[in-house]
Amino acid sequence: MSSVHVAPVGDLIEHDTSGENDCVCGPSSRPVKGDDGSVGWVVTHASLDGRELTEGESG
Ligand SMILES: [Zn+2]
Repeated sequence: MSSVHVAPVGDLIEHDTSGENDCVCGPSSRPVKGDDGSVGWVVTHASLDGRELTEGESG
């Protein structure tokens, strides 16, 4: 099984893209089916600088 990491470039932290789901940002992974029928994983990392956040946290 292979995994593909999608991590923000130039983020505040260095994302660990060597493990399956082992980064400090708490990435989410989902299975994807390749053209050859094999199933891999896409690990989507979250950016910690808030660029993906559209909602402010209360507090
Ligand atoms: Zn990460």
